Amino acid sequence: MQTSQDTYQELRAAVRALCAQFPDAYFRMIDQQRGYPEAFVAALTEAGWLAALIPEQYGGSGLGLTEASVILEEINRCGGNSGVCHGQMYNMGTLLRHGSERQKRDYLPRIASGELRLQSMAVTEPGAGSDTTRIQTRAVRHGDHYRVSGQKVWISRVQHSDLMILLARTTPLERVSRRSEGMSLFLIDLRAAVGHGLNVRPIANMVNHETNELFFDELEVPAENLIGEEGLGFRYLLDGLNAERALIAAECVGDGRWFIDRVVGYGCERQVFGQPIARNQGVQFPIARAHVQLEAASLMRFEACVRFDARQSCGAEANMAKLLASEASWEAANVCLQFHGGFGFACEYDIERKFRETRLYQVAPISTNLILAYVAEHVLGLPRSF
Ligand SMILES: Cc1cc2nc3c(=O)[nH]c(=O)nc-3n(C[C@H](O)[C@H](O)[C@H](O)COP(=O)(O)OP(=O)(O)OC[C@H]3O[C@@H](n4cnc5c(N)ncnc54)[C@H](O)[C@@H]3O)c2cc1C
Repeated sequence: MQTSQDTYQELRAAVRALCAQFPDAYFRMIDQQRGYPEAFVAALTEAGWLAALIPEQYGGSGLGLTEASVILEEINRCGGNSGVCHGQMYNMGTLLRHGSERQKRDYLPRIASGELRLQSMAVTEPGAGSDTTRIQTRAVRHGDHYRVSGQKVWISRVQHSDLMILLARTTPLERVSRRSEGMSLFLIDLRAAVGHGLNVRPIANMVNHETNELFFDELEVPAENLIGEEGLGFRYLLDGLNAERALIAAECVGDGRWFIDRVVGYGCERQVFGQPIARNQGVQFPIARAHVQLEAASLMRFEACVRFDARQSCGAEANMAKLLASEASWEAANVCLQFHGGFGFACEYDIERKFRETRLYQVAPISTNLILAYVAEHVLGLPRSF
């Protein structure tokens, strides 16, 4: 098993070369305007990076989750935010493994070419965040189509995507023997749906993250857009969720490395009491500690990705990687902000922007407590608490 980051130097250099065309000032401007980095996402698409996981037979590069994680890590390490486009990577975990051959032939080549974007996944509801099995969005079959009604919240990139993966209940909770049964996944064509049974209301939020409330009112979805078998959607979704956790761990590693690069550079330059602040061990040690924790998190990310790519169980590793990396990047963010003194708060240093961006990942896509609950119950065999 190859876990050393050095294995991917060529890939890293290629992504960095693209990112160099989009300096800090670009992302700062997009953040201040609450805009979407269209030019950046177009460049990533054109270079083929967002089709990394699509098999070659459908026009992609046929790379694994491991390489995808390195791509997203590098974007964040260069000062960008993969949150604008990572959906296209993790949604592949679901579509590639459980989509029909027809769905793959219809959509994947057009996603690979950039004609279509599959950036959204709709799971969370106002009454069901951590407890996914309580979703109330219903899909009822009527002949050759389903009708979907309900509400979702925090659904990202809907305004910059053509397709969305939707989780809905097809059998009411009271009629299933296990809570995770009776849910199904659908591929929603947003171009046809918005304004015709689907309304989208943006949510202003702390990060410049395009995210929305969705209102479904008898939205008609062709039955052929059901992914896999009816009722097994939650099981299929786990492949996408594990991929998402491993990829977000990589993004946090990228953020953390960006913070460490910045604070190391600044600490060696900034003179206080006639010497660089980084000469003080009180400054060095927190930076060193954050670095150590990032390196450990990065290895767990590789472990999760390698297992995912080998189709081995990876729920524990993907969850642990996400927990370790989100905490390590947050520690690096705090250290970086702290040792920039007042300057850390100035927008032109980009630290406050990245600080906000990396904080999200202790809450979404799964909160730290829920990861600990998963490890306690599923890895350690402790009693179920909910
Ligand atoms: C910017 C942003 C983008 C998002 N994008 C998407 C998206 O694209 N698609 C999507 O489907 N969702 C998305 N989400 C939703 C995200 O996945 C949820 O916010 C997350 O799963 C937590 O759910 P919740 O907000 O309902 O929190 P809740 O489930 O209400 O939990 C609140 C807090 O209570 C704690 N808690 C709850 N139960 C327990 C327990 N039993 N033990 C200990 N602690 C507990 C949790 O850890 C959490 O800290 C996004 C969220 C944000 C903020």
